[in-house]
Amino acid sequence: MSDTDTTRTSSSGLRTPIVAVLGHVDHGKTSLLDKIRGSAVIEGEAGAITQHIGATAVPLDTVSRVAGSLVDPDDFDLPGLLFIDTPGHHSFTTLRSRGGALADIAILVVDVTDGFQPQTIEAINILQDSSTPFVVAANKIDTVAGWNPREDSPVQQTYDAQSDRARSRLDERLYELIGELSDHGFSADLYWRVQDFQKNVGVVPVSAMTGEGVPDLLTVLMGLSQRYMKDAMEIDVAGPGAGTVLEVKDEKGFGATVDVVLYDGTVREDETIVVGGTQEPIVTDVRALLQPRPLAEIRAESRFDRVDEVGAAAGLKIAAPDLEEAMAGAPVRVVRDRDIDDVVGEVEAELAEVEVSTEEEG
Ligand code: GDP
Repeated sequence: MSDTDTTRTSSSGLRTPIVAVLGHVDHGKTSLLDKIRGSAVIEGEAGAITQHIGATAVPLDTVSRVAGSLVDPDDFDLPGLLFIDTPGHHSFTTLRSRGGALADIAILVVDVTDGFQPQTIEAINILQDSSTPFVVAANKIDTVAGWNPREDSPVQQTYDAQSDRARSRLDERLYELIGELSDHGFSADLYWRVQDFQKNVGVVPVSAMTGEGVPDLLTVLMGLSQRYMKDAMEIDVAGPGAGTVLEVKDEKGFGATVDVVLYDGTVREDETIVVGGTQEPIVTDVRALLQPRPLAEIRAESRFDRVDEVGAAAGLKIAAPDLEEAMAGAPVRVVRDRDIDDVVGEVEAELAEVEVSTEEEG
């Protein structure tokens, strides 16, 4: 064992909550993620958001800037929000962590005019089964007849600025939606009326097109996480990393690589990792840890920046030998100062669980 291993002390800290987006096709999941990414970017300002592999990190400062008076950053000590870039049920159910959902919290997107649709119900069942807290984004409020959009405005400001008729049309739809949620066993209300988010689902009227309500949505997600998930976000920030494979990809110059969401600890270059595979767990050494190169710096030779270490929560690409048989949805573990066989056993046990749950779905 090396000196660095024996001198390393464990230090607890809070990680970023991981957010997933679910909902019926065409209800606006992708547009909403794009809008969040877009609203978090300030021209010329570096680091407002960080594009990870497969995920987007929105730091607390940015949430607070977008949310304006809705958020006082002093009320929060979680570092921000990490959105998984691939929306949808398949990614939600295949991405697991230690038996639970990889996502700590979810946005259920419902087209306010279209209302509940088959995949909305499917999503609600998935969220219920995995006990994932969620908020409902009542999307496309700008399509209400007579709506007068106010770009990127908090919802109550834009609501107050509408005509009586537009307001009552929106109210009607929102109440229908709240009724549908109730029919499916969820007591829900407009988010500003919700006192206890553990008992009631908050509904946030938004438009992924105009950005109205997006400040509110970020505020509610941040507030929910801070209030109810702080304990779960407490990790040994310097401990051996744990993550989930998003995708296995061939990458020029690197061969087979895995895109991973890291939800615990750290991973460093040259460390031994165990990755769940289609046949058996793969034991290999990290050759490179890769993150996307900022757009401005993209040069012909590589789209990636190499880093020495990555800490949770983050999305990253791991290049290592023998990853051809790695499996999407499978666990990744850093061995570090533990016994390799123990870690392999951990990965096997978790894989068995993943397989059982996939069979159940089919
Ligand atoms: P997904 O299948 O849930 O990811 O839905 P998309 O994000 O692809 O959106 C489906 C369609 O609805 C696209 O044509 C979007 O431009 C449109 N759309 C999404 N959100 C809004 C919104 O808030 N307002 C309006 N008017 N159109 C929207």
